[in-house]
Amino acid sequence: MAGRIPQDFINDLIDRSDIVEILQTRIQLKKAGREYKACCPFHGEKTPSFTVSPEKGFYHCFGCGAHGTVIGFLMEHDRLEFVEAVEELASINGVDVVHEAGNKPTTPAAPLYELLDQAAQLFREELRSSDKAITYLKQRHLDGETAGRFRIGYAPGGWNYLLKHFGGSETGQEHLLKTGMILRNEEGRVYDRFRDRIMFPIRDSRGRVVGFGGRVLDHGEPKYLNSPETPVFHKGRELYGLYEARRANRKLKHLLVVEGYMDVVALACHGINNAVATLGTATTTDHLQRLFRATNEIIFCFDGDRAGRDAAWRALQITLPELREGRQARFLFLADGQDPDSVVSEQGAEAFNQQLAQSLPLSDYLLQQLKSGIDLSSVDGLARLAELARPMVNLIPEGVYRELLLGRLADEIGLSTQRLATLLDNPPAANPTYAAPRSKPKNTTNQRSSHIRHAIKLVLHHPAAAKDLALPEGFEALTNPGISLLKELLTAAAKTPKMKPGRLAENFAEHQDGGRALQTLLTQEVHLDNESNWDIELRDTLNAILREALEYRHNELIAQADSPDGLSDTEKTEFRELPQQLARLRHGIS
Ligand SMILES: [Zn+2]
Repeated sequence: MAGRIPQDFINDLIDRSDIVEILQTRIQLKKAGREYKACCPFHGEKTPSFTVSPEKGFYHCFGCGAHGTVIGFLMEHDRLEFVEAVEELASINGVDVVHEAGNKPTTPAAPLYELLDQAAQLFREELRSSDKAITYLKQRHLDGETAGRFRIGYAPGGWNYLLKHFGGSETGQEHLLKTGMILRNEEGRVYDRFRDRIMFPIRDSRGRVVGFGGRVLDHGEPKYLNSPETPVFHKGRELYGLYEARRANRKLKHLLVVEGYMDVVALACHGINNAVATLGTATTTDHLQRLFRATNEIIFCFDGDRAGRDAAWRALQITLPELREGRQARFLFLADGQDPDSVVSEQGAEAFNQQLAQSLPLSDYLLQQLKSGIDLSSVDGLARLAELARPMVNLIPEGVYRELLLGRLADEIGLSTQRLATLLDNPPAANPTYAAPRSKPKNTTNQRSSHIRHAIKLVLHHPAAAKDLALPEGFEALTNPGISLLKELLTAAAKTPKMKPGRLAENFAEHQDGGRALQTLLTQEVHLDNESNWDIELRDTLNAILREALEYRHNELIAQADSPDGLSDTEKTEFRELPQQLARLRHGIS
């Protein structure tokens, strides 16, 4: 692969693409006002709730919550990896993909891939001539066909097997070090990382070897050894067996996530060709997104022990934000001391499949966990359940799946879904079920945030409004919730006023100050009396935010001046100056 694709190139590509034209060749779009509608390709439906906005360069499904730019669509719909989607979009637009290292076809990564591929080849040959390794694999019931399909090999003992083959030149040694195939000790001497181990090549989505996992044949330590992070291998992204599973079947009904390579390979030996394993790391969001691009259903298989249960709970939390209608996750807990390898090897594929059929749907597992240790016969217990469920439910994107889960939860608690949704929306302090409401100052946080929300909506829908904007004096110092997101959006929009709203929302989707809400705000209409007045509206809204924050502060100071503590000297100065600042603001607006 060539070097990184510059963000500017990708942004420009999205901006110049006609999202309607590209989607039209894949799904049936109907014009509806300024937008287009279709039956959503990502969840089954009869009435269209999938909308495409050419102006915003953005699609959104009101049924399942799927949304994104044209790149996101290509990834989801054509099941492409990010780089593949960029390449596809570039070719639709008739341009060449630009890579950071210039436009050269070969980049520093190419020799690393080549080296890893040749190493895999050598390990294959060594396996064929090693009685010890063959005997071991036979003991593990691994057949030759599967070993070949997974390119399983053997790294001989000794310290310089790969060094002898590739380390003759300085470049050769450098490439070995870069791929993590050799190590350098403190005295500066180099030696092979993998010695006397069964080698499992880890392949990326295009089938290129990016690293290895190595297993000892006897009782040595560590039992499993992985390649380190390298320029071509990222553990948080790669999944062992995904490439092989997709090759075995392009339309995967579901994928199993298991713990180790031996599980993946043992299952494959028994005709179960859809297992993948993370590489010594917990499941990450990147993993999940790759899995859901390959299939709609994921089944996590965990050992029944404590560590397995902890890993399952973590996996659940990573999965929730990725859930939309049509997607499913299930959890299988094997008996303590068992793993998929031992189950298929000792009891056969049939027994394993029977266990799979018993796996718990995510919602069952979630409720089971939330309910454990809570006395549901008491009002306190029910309130506690609602409270525990809140952060979980809020992780799920709005849409049908979330509704279904809310419905089930409401049944458990004995409330209407609507009442429960209200409970979950409001913080406990403001919620009489949990605690007595606190008395609030005159200006509530909600009032203030509605202006911030409006300002965010304005920048989002019309980035050009931020072009020549000067922030009102004192605005920089504000710290209310949502302000940091707003400030950054303003900066980004001012820098690139022609940016399409969909891309702006996507760039900030991970922002911790409410970035997720941007997608929803983008789907809401903004009504202005005069379409050409976006900049005036934005300026007025920023002034209103500032004014409200200052009024709030003023009220706080009044209350404090009346209290026994009184005001400090700095607060007294602030108290004197605030009314003037407010007056200036009010005049500035009218
Ligand atoms: Zn949908």
